[in-house]
Amino acid sequence: MNEFDLIRRFFQPLDRKLRAGDGVDLGIGDDCALMQAPDHQQLAMSIDTLVEGVHFLPETDIRRLGHKALAVNLSDLAAMGAEPLWFMLALTLPKPDSQWLQSFAQGLADLALAAGIRLIGGDTTRGPRTITIQVTGAVPVGCALRRDAAQVGDDIWVSGVLGQGGLGLLVRQHLLPVDDVSTTWVDKLETPIPRLSLGVSLRGVARACIDVSDGFLQDLQHILTASGVGARLLWDTLPTVPWQPRYGNVLARVSNPQDWKAYCLQCGDDYELCFTAAPGERARIEALSSQLDLCVTRVGSIVAEPGLQTASGEPLQANGFQHF
Ligand code: ADP
Ligand code: MG
Repeated sequence: MNEFDLIRRFFQPLDRKLRAGDGVDLGIGDDCALMQAPDHQQLAMSIDTLVEGVHFLPETDIRRLGHKALAVNLSDLAAMGAEPLWFMLALTLPKPDSQWLQSFAQGLADLALAAGIRLIGGDTTRGPRTITIQVTGAVPVGCALRRDAAQVGDDIWVSGVLGQGGLGLLVRQHLLPVDDVSTTWVDKLETPIPRLSLGVSLRGVARACIDVSDGFLQDLQHILTASGVGARLLWDTLPTVPWQPRYGNVLARVSNPQDWKAYCLQCGDDYELCFTAAPGERARIEALSSQLDLCVTRVGSIVAEPGLQTASGEPLQANGFQHF
């Protein structure tokens, strides 16, 4: 199977119209793809790389890997309030393994269809297994949810339950046992659901927004730094995975309720949205939460004094995942 057969067989099928007027004049097959940006919209672009051994374990289910490679990028579009349009795929593989490609393309195709995003091109090379996806989305001019827009007095909100992906990683690393509950964390780690509907619905409601991918505290700190503000957090209301006493003696790092909670707020792989909004938006946000059937919790407020504190003014450390 040469490079062109591979592209034709596994990836060309993802280059098809999912809706009328999708802006694609020319997809896979030429030197460049040709697209038309939607009228009166800004293009939102993001790129993410998954490296084997760094972002995923070699034994990861391949279909799930296809899902995740796209999901982490869609999560960035969600965080800007953008709707997905097109993506590109740069794939580096040690060898052209049909079974691997079949499963990977399947995972990718399923999520691409669900999210309404079309594959328009890419690159295929030989080397250590690495997956890079670049996504483009659209958002009406001036409506993007940026990190630098938080204002003093805003509420801070977060979607979902924090810590599941990170706990799933401990399970995958054989540091926590496999059982009915911990399996759901592994699912969250390997097939995160990007919060696209929430992101779009927050246009005109939220001020600043970020997706939580490298630990809640660290990612919130990015909003604070970009906006030149600080935060007070309602520690007890932070929606983390409830402490599981049966794991009490299993792993020192998470062996009591406090350390467990701290881990949930610092681990990666949540792919939830953290955003700020004026207190006047509370009712709208709660209505949105029930409409979308997604829990969204108010966890604190933005203050002028920089840094992270508890409601009673104790300082908090914003540690999270960092590559360097
Ligand atoms: P070039 O040599 O001009 O860079 P390539 O031979 O790399 O072109 O790619 C041929 C066509 O196939 C291009 O349209 C490119 O975007 C597409 N393509 C290559 N690899 C992939 C891939 N992994 N997924 C989707 N499209 C791909
Ligand atoms: Mg090329």
